[in-house]
Amino acid sequence: MTALGASMTDTNQTAKDGADTLAAEKTALAWTHTARFLTTASQLDQLPQTELPEIAFVGRSNAGKSTAINMLTQQKRLAFASKTPGRTQHINLFELGPKLTPDALFADLPGYGYAAVARGAKLRWQQVMAQYLEVRRSLTGVVLMVDSRLGFTDLDRQLLQFVAPRVGNGSVKMLVLLTKADKLNRKESREALSAAQAALGEMTTDEADVGVALFSALNKTGIGDAAMVLHGWTHPGAGAASL
Ligand code: GDP
Repeated sequence: MTALGASMTDTNQTAKDGADTLAAEKTALAWTHTARFLTTASQLDQLPQTELPEIAFVGRSNAGKSTAINMLTQQKRLAFASKTPGRTQHINLFELGPKLTPDALFADLPGYGYAAVARGAKLRWQQVMAQYLEVRRSLTGVVLMVDSRLGFTDLDRQLLQFVAPRVGNGSVKMLVLLTKADKLNRKESREALSAAQAALGEMTTDEADVGVALFSALNKTGIGDAAMVLHGWTHPGAGAASL
């Protein structure tokens, strides 16, 4: 399992490595910035069938998912499209890459765990998420947003179970962003990282590609690293994925 950001603090890192990392980060952020709204769907069979690699963003409501997507794409309102009335229980798709030759999709999945949601809606959520994570063929990676102060909740663990077989055999990659890290001191940050690594423990087989990183929209922690990971997942030949 990779704890991202480690390479940035490695004192043995050469100046050339540093310059390469900066260039890779710039490329990745320029790519994430191309994200634009494509379509919205309330059921799996309404999603376009596509060959493009798809990265899903998931997390409890209020975990900071919309803010993280907006920061990653450097667009103030992109993911707030997902928060407009009528779209909160939908899967919202964004397209990335050149306009005429898009090369990836981001899928913003409904936030879960909102206490006021009725039982029927919760069951429907489970079904949509389980189905999406188990069968969406083009799914390449999952970014799970977890509030760094709360850690993994029961619903987060349940969601991990849906996708665990595909993560375990390496066909779907996984990045956990511990959000709102600006609210933690150093000791709490270390503890949050190790608790997350422990929670992911059983998924981390030899084949699995699972990363964990502290993330803060407020002080911009982890944004470049996360962008490089997502770019690497969808552009395996580009050489930007190795952190
Ligand atoms: P979502 O429901 O998961 O999409 O969560 P939002 O992106 O709407 O964020 C929920 C709340 O957390 C909002 O009040 C945000 O301003 C706040 N928030 C999001 N990211 C951060 C962060 O990095 N640091 C801090 N301190 N607050 C954040």
